[in-house]
Amino acid sequence: MMWEADGSRDLFEDVPAPAARGDRFVTGNLTGDDLDVERTLRPQRLADYCGQDHIKQSLQILIEAAQSRGESLDHVLFSGPPGLGKTTLATVLANELGANIKTTSGPAIERTGDLAAILTNLQPGDVLFIDEIHRLNRSVEEILYPAMEDFALDIVIGKGPAARSIRLEIPRFTLVGATTRSGMLTGPLRDRFGISFRLDYYAIEDLAHIVERSSEILGVEICHEAAVEVASRSRGTPRLANRLLKRVRDYAQVRGGGSIDLAIAQEALEFFEIDELGLDWMDIRILEVLAKTYRGRAVGLSTLASAVGEDPSTLEDVYEPYLLQRGLIVRTPQGRQATPVAFEHLGVEPPATR
Ligand code: ADP
Repeated sequence: MMWEADGSRDLFEDVPAPAARGDRFVTGNLTGDDLDVERTLRPQRLADYCGQDHIKQSLQILIEAAQSRGESLDHVLFSGPPGLGKTTLATVLANELGANIKTTSGPAIERTGDLAAILTNLQPGDVLFIDEIHRLNRSVEEILYPAMEDFALDIVIGKGPAARSIRLEIPRFTLVGATTRSGMLTGPLRDRFGISFRLDYYAIEDLAHIVERSSEILGVEICHEAAVEVASRSRGTPRLANRLLKRVRDYAQVRGGGSIDLAIAQEALEFFEIDELGLDWMDIRILEVLAKTYRGRAVGLSTLASAVGEDPSTLEDVYEPYLLQRGLIVRTPQGRQATPVAFEHLGVEPPATR
């Protein structure tokens, strides 16, 4: 997915020509625009991390237990859609453990030697964060197995019949993996994580809390109703809540008095074409294709993707999860279908024979 420091690819290049309407605010993926602000807005301690109470409480217990035994924490896997706070949790975890964190990602580790270098440079107790861990290539992944299990690195020296394997010890560390596609993780890798959490979309009140916290950090005044309004259009995703807040702040600065009340928040969100469910033009286009063009019939992923001018995997990873979660579409063995909720949202009469 889009991890380029330069966000322009995410913002412009992937936008299909017929529907090109400018920036897509409501993607949970990281865009260049987020990078500077994310650093300041990202919570550093568990106490600042809003929502996901069950995960927070569990982590608190696991951290305390590991610390009281004087051991490193078991390896942890976070899964869930982009922008929900997996990277943030990894950072928080390291801070709570008083450990250093080394960050990398699945696609960045191309060769086994790259991973061996990372592992041998770790200090005891370090946290190694691997984002998009489902994208590790198989040979690299195999190096991880003994590293996670026995804190050892098996290195083959020489070639052919003379080849022999030596085992190097590495410091005890905690691997934190993050994935948007937990189903794509191999069984052996998944089994080596002692702790696994699935992050869910946030409740509106939790997101409103995040918006209020971020406003304070950004030094902009916002009333609670306006924070709830921004939150309710953020697709349950903190990264988006922060992004919308920044846009609303800009709008309030130029068109209003600087502070954000409900009216200015609504005006701004309308101006940026984010509807009450947080859907943008691309989501609407997907729903329209399903509801209007195909009249509620099941449509295969690749047909739908070409109808909206988007890449099938982007459609599946980025757009669908939220539409599914809001009950706007369903996935059947025959394909994707618009639900009555989608027809109602679009103001389209559902076909009589459904
Ligand atoms: P992911 O790794 O799941 O894609 P991140 O951890 O990068 O998501 O989170 C994106 C941004 O959202 C962070 O920079 C942070 O500012 C904000 N954020 C995420 N989760 C929370 C939370 N629980 N409380 C406050 N802010 C959060």
